[in-house]
Amino acid sequence: MKILICQFGNETNSFSLGKTTWETLVSHGWIEKETVLNLFEGTASYVGGAIRAMREEGVEPLPIDLATKGGNFGAGPTMSMECARYAMDHITEQVKEHLSEIDGVFFAVHGAGRTETEEDLESYCFRRMRSVIGDLPMMSSLDAHANLSHDMVALSDGLFGIKTVPHVDCEEAGYRAASVLIQTIRGELKPQMALCRLPLLIPATTGFTLSGVGKEILEHNRLYREEHGLLDVTFFFGFSATDAHCSSCSVLVVADGYDPIAEAEELAEFVWERKSGFEGESLSCAEALSRAEAQIKEGYAVVNEASDNPGGGAPGDATHLLREMLRRNQKGYVMGPLYDPEAAGYIHENCRVGDRISIAVGGKTDPRGGEPIELEDALVVNLSDGKLISAAPINRGVAMDYGKSVRLRQGNVELILVSDRFQTYDDRPFLMTGCDLSQARVLGLKSMNHFKGYFQHTADAIVTADPPGVCPIDLKQYDYQNLCRPILPLDDEAEIPSFKNWGKKEGK
Ligand SMILES: [Zn+2]
Repeated sequence: MKILICQFGNETNSFSLGKTTWETLVSHGWIEKETVLNLFEGTASYVGGAIRAMREEGVEPLPIDLATKGGNFGAGPTMSMECARYAMDHITEQVKEHLSEIDGVFFAVHGAGRTETEEDLESYCFRRMRSVIGDLPMMSSLDAHANLSHDMVALSDGLFGIKTVPHVDCEEAGYRAASVLIQTIRGELKPQMALCRLPLLIPATTGFTLSGVGKEILEHNRLYREEHGLLDVTFFFGFSATDAHCSSCSVLVVADGYDPIAEAEELAEFVWERKSGFEGESLSCAEALSRAEAQIKEGYAVVNEASDNPGGGAPGDATHLLREMLRRNQKGYVMGPLYDPEAAGYIHENCRVGDRISIAVGGKTDPRGGEPIELEDALVVNLSDGKLISAAPINRGVAMDYGKSVRLRQGNVELILVSDRFQTYDDRPFLMTGCDLSQARVLGLKSMNHFKGYFQHTADAIVTADPPGVCPIDLKQYDYQNLCRPILPLDDEAEIPSFKNWGKKEGK
């Protein structure tokens, strides 16, 4: 047996300025098929998990070129249709070449992509794939932030979401999707899916599974799956910054040989009863820093500037948190990766380690992120090529490339500038510049939840700041045009006739 492996997707923030093009989606282009097994086997990634399942079952993995960023998916503004078409043209061309020799397709997608014209990027991708493979079995792993649509379910033979935020089970989702695919090809399983969408948007910052209601749902679903002998149960948090008819949270159940709609409705009801648990508290940078400082013991506290999370489609160059850190000018303050390829490139060209420089940093993409900050006579502490291997649970072992990077010091505050956008997952973007976190007191960084996979074990405290930005906790700041309405928290609570029928009408 041979199974083709491919990956393409995007987490679209409709309220982020600009367009996601092929160049911005994956700055280094395709991961070429010849290198995929070497790069991903044994890593904590979707593809790593799929390869493991195939190896265990004596199935030959047949990777084609992958579109992936750090093993996962890029996030950013609305994707250009040209980008989606180009990627799917390239993928389907390669699938055609191998069609006569493959038994199935493993297709890792995100689930919250949209383009200028396709509100549901994954359905577009699946339709393109179906036009080539016909009825050949195709299954996918998806992100926990996927906005699931009934079209996606109809076009796929099996969808397997990650369950955790931070996403520590990407490998497991890839493994499960590939395992069920193999058993289905062998005729041992007949998976059927049931989807219930809920009229609820969850801010990406408040939807996590380390504690609270998210953890309760995670544990409940795991037990429920075991007790009912289901192939899979996923609560998808959805991605609330995608303005599309399919944006919402949802429950998807996969069963063997029957339609598990009753189970999906029961699990949707369980979430609905607990929806108030996803409401969040919004702190300014000053409030968050004060609260963090008060909780430092022997080590450091982390303040995450969630509203500027590049992993949520924000630019990663907002200056609100850095400005407040510079104003306080405390010893041991370190601001993690700030996206500014212009400044980082200029310093690499013109400075050596030990030089001093006056330069404007950040604040160059979106006015919501604040003005650029004029550094004066800042010390160039170190330069880095930005290459690292991730140590975070979400993508451990995967190579990442921040591009030309710089560590600067202004007063007591250190700052790391980078040339490519990633949210902060772990200590590696600090270490790549030689920054020793054992000396740090407060770390500022840009991420909503995934950094916690690493930092919950190392930081004395974690406090979330919610200054103005592209990913706010208060979703009423967004001017939505395309959602299924009514939906919480935008509208007053509506009577829900049944979860299985809500949001079924696709498109406007
Ligand atoms: Zn996600």
